[in-house]
Amino acid sequence: MKFELNEEQLQIQEMVRSLARKSFAPGAARTDGESIYPAENMRQLADLGLLGMLFPAAYGGSEAGAMGYNIALREVAGGCASTAVGMAVTNMVGETIWKFGNEEQRKRFLPGLASESIGPGAFALTEPSAGSDAGGMRTFAVEDGDRYILNGSKSFITNGGRAGVTIVLALTQKEPRKISAFLVEPGTTGFSAGKPENKLGLKGSDTVSLSFDECGIPKRNMLGAPGEGFRIAMSALDGGRIGIASQAIGIANAALETATAYAKDRKQFGQPIAEFQAIQWMLADSATELDAAQLLVYRAACLKDQGKPYTRESSMAKLFASEAGNRVCHKAVQVLGGYGYVSEYPVERHLRDVRVTTIYEGTSEVQRIVLSRSMLR
Ligand SMILES: Cc1cc2nc3c(=O)[nH]c(=O)nc-3n(C[C@H](O)[C@H](O)[C@H](O)COP(=O)(O)OP(=O)(O)OC[C@H]3O[C@@H](n4cnc5c(N)ncnc54)[C@H](O)[C@@H]3O)c2cc1C
Repeated sequence: MKFELNEEQLQIQEMVRSLARKSFAPGAARTDGESIYPAENMRQLADLGLLGMLFPAAYGGSEAGAMGYNIALREVAGGCASTAVGMAVTNMVGETIWKFGNEEQRKRFLPGLASESIGPGAFALTEPSAGSDAGGMRTFAVEDGDRYILNGSKSFITNGGRAGVTIVLALTQKEPRKISAFLVEPGTTGFSAGKPENKLGLKGSDTVSLSFDECGIPKRNMLGAPGEGFRIAMSALDGGRIGIASQAIGIANAALETATAYAKDRKQFGQPIAEFQAIQWMLADSATELDAAQLLVYRAACLKDQGKPYTRESSMAKLFASEAGNRVCHKAVQVLGGYGYVSEYPVERHLRDVRVTTIYEGTSEVQRIVLSRSMLR
């Protein structure tokens, strides 16, 4: 078992760390405070090949594999979490089209996603009454000549409304239930997006509802075979969950760095607070939790790159890293005391940004269901 990154992975880490710290971190407070979509950051990611990391160069991708991609995503999340979520969904959509799309669909969408020329990608599974129980969706698609007519709505869709392509999951048969996946393009008649949600964190990322009102989708835009949608969605989420773990680690690591520097600098009772064991233990526990989370991410990503099953490992990585990331950010605020609670320091933003990682792409409770089912089967 090797615990070292290879030359290529180290290069990705160095390049993206430098980009995130020099270019993304300085603007992250404004992105958050004014809820600005980080368009310039996304353009820079595209220029460096970081929006098509999970598909081949023949389609404009950079073929970094799950390890390379997760290393990059962690660094971006440390600089600007709103940028990281846009990057994550775009990469997930690109990989899913590459994996399940036909040649014509790959050529039509992948180069534009990687270069951002068509905009980011979006993935629409959740509905107002179907969140954790995603299979209980109501959005319905009926065959009509050479089209499917979609009716229904989706909620909480990242990049929705500004995406160049949205993977939309819809029922195509009610008894027995069959779900299919569609590639929906902007400007399609009957397809509209609501206003961005006002969120606790990730304020630079657009999260919107999507509506489908007699929306005609050409049959050539079905992704995979009829009825294959749920399998496609679960496959996308398997990979996506490793990414959420990386986001949580990146955000929490940034908070821990701030807390460590602050503890050395801040004096109370005539000495730096870093001299107090209570502070030292918070820092030590945080570093240990983040390292453990990182190892779970590396294991899941390695298995994925080797083409081995990794559903259980990705679920464990997501569950542990997101919960640990929340604990670490919570402690970072504690280390900074009152200064941790105000926006002069970034840790209050990190705490708000990391909060959602135990919720999206399957809550912690859902991960525990996935894991216990695999144990008790
Ligand atoms: C910022 C943001 C971005 C998002 N982006 C996307 C996106 O791009 N695409 C997309 O499709 N979705 C997206 N989502 C939706 C997200 O995936 C859902 O919010 C999530 O899956 C939870 O669904 P829900 O909100 O309906 O909660 P619910 O399913 O209603 O859950 C509420 C609570 O009940 C618990 N619960 C539910 N069922 C069980 C059970 N069987 N056992 C125990 N506890 C249970 C949950 O764990 C949770 O604590 C996003 C959400 C947010 C907040």
